[in-house]
Amino acid sequence: MEQTTAFSQTIFALASAGGRAGVAVIRVSGPQAGVVLARLMGRRGDAPETPPRRAVYAQLTDPVSGETLDDGLVIWFPGPASFTGEDVAEFHVHGGPAVISGILGALSAVDGLRLAEPGEFTRRAFEHGKMDLTAAEGLADLIEAETAAQRRQALRQLEGELGRVYENWRERLLSALAHSEAAIDFSDEDLPDHIEAAARAELVGLEEEIASHLTDRRRGERLRDGCRIAIIGPPNAGKSSLLNLLAQRDAAIVSETAGTTRDVIEVHLDLGGYPVTIADTAGLRDGGDAIEAEGIRRARRTAAAADLRLAVFDGERWPEADPSTAELVDADTLVVINKCDLGGLKPPHEVNGQSALAISALTGDGIDHLLAAVAERVAGMMDLGDFPALTRARHREALEQCRDALGRYFASSGSSPELAAEDLRLAARALGRITGRVDVDDILDVIFRDFCIGK
Ligand code: GDP
Repeated sequence: MEQTTAFSQTIFALASAGGRAGVAVIRVSGPQAGVVLARLMGRRGDAPETPPRRAVYAQLTDPVSGETLDDGLVIWFPGPASFTGEDVAEFHVHGGPAVISGILGALSAVDGLRLAEPGEFTRRAFEHGKMDLTAAEGLADLIEAETAAQRRQALRQLEGELGRVYENWRERLLSALAHSEAAIDFSDEDLPDHIEAAARAELVGLEEEIASHLTDRRRGERLRDGCRIAIIGPPNAGKSSLLNLLAQRDAAIVSETAGTTRDVIEVHLDLGGYPVTIADTAGLRDGGDAIEAEGIRRARRTAAAADLRLAVFDGERWPEADPSTAELVDADTLVVINKCDLGGLKPPHEVNGQSALAISALTGDGIDHLLAAVAERVAGMMDLGDFPALTRARHREALEQCRDALGRYFASSGSSPELAAEDLRLAARALGRITGRVDVDDILDVIFRDFCIGK
């Protein structure tokens, strides 16, 4: 009954960002929300007496001192038709620090009210079945979203797209499990063979769907975290100049002395709606002092961890492509020949089979081409597609556990039906952990819904 105690408390918090603003929103959730609303509106009774889900203009007073704190809008959301599923009151007041602290102070003086913990409103929404865990994560992502594509992905997840996929898979697993259990429990009652075969075929299809969902090159996670791009190349090729040009600001030191960029410098960009982090790295070359060697080690590490590399070569030295950079060029690398203002690009126009783009970080020539090429790659890596993508390592882990359990089911279903059923149960439970639906009693619902064994 611990949960009931937690929910019987009424919580409140500033729902908008801190600091000065035109409007601030303070939210109250729990059984006392209505009483609190009535009190702050200066009413004697305990009922809010305002129409539900309508903004009402009100003067807000401190119930203890009677002092007017502000005037603003209040909205009354009686549960369960509210964000948390509980009674909720919202105060839309002027966004000044003294107004906010005045209202918060008045609320905390009411017996039984306490300040909400981080995420507690959403947690209550989850506990009251208003959203599953993936939707709650989608809400968190929506608040963090910095680019249009991130917003789209977060919104889709908040609206339940991803959760519905997992719920559908879990239901299919539970249905197959119900069939297996029935086959075990009623083995002497001649369940038709085709039921077993159909369940198995369903699971084969499901395993394929999960496998293809898992091999998505991390596009959902990439979109959430931002695509990592590393600029690599020999010293003085113009890496820092390129980064500055891309960032349109002086994020990296541009200098004429070889080996000045010793650490990794990052800028965050919104590239056609996709979030990217571009890192400038130390010039790759042999020799140099210990600090430079450390810089090169970090450069290689950054390059290896990046989703995409821009290998910048010095056009002045071309076609002599620096070998320590050339060896890192692969299919996830765009080859860039810089300083094309100094006399154009001589053949060959490729490194390791990757065709080269000529640019000048000095004049800006070719940058639009390069940006278009980068944007195309990035969009390809994070494209939203019709099918929702998993967005967290947590989803991936649970899905892998589900897939592994399914694999074990296939291995043992012929010889040991009991073990096989247990593997199906584990597979369903792994999926249930993603959405937060873990109750094993679901199996009973499926049995009673799908079966009319009725003997
Ligand atoms: P990094 O060591 O690769 O980061 O190279 P920098 O960006 O520090 O540039 C090295 C030198 O090349 C500087 O003197 C830059 O001004 C110069 N530079 C960079 N890009 C170009 C370019 O496109 N054309 C010309 N002519 N010079 C460039």
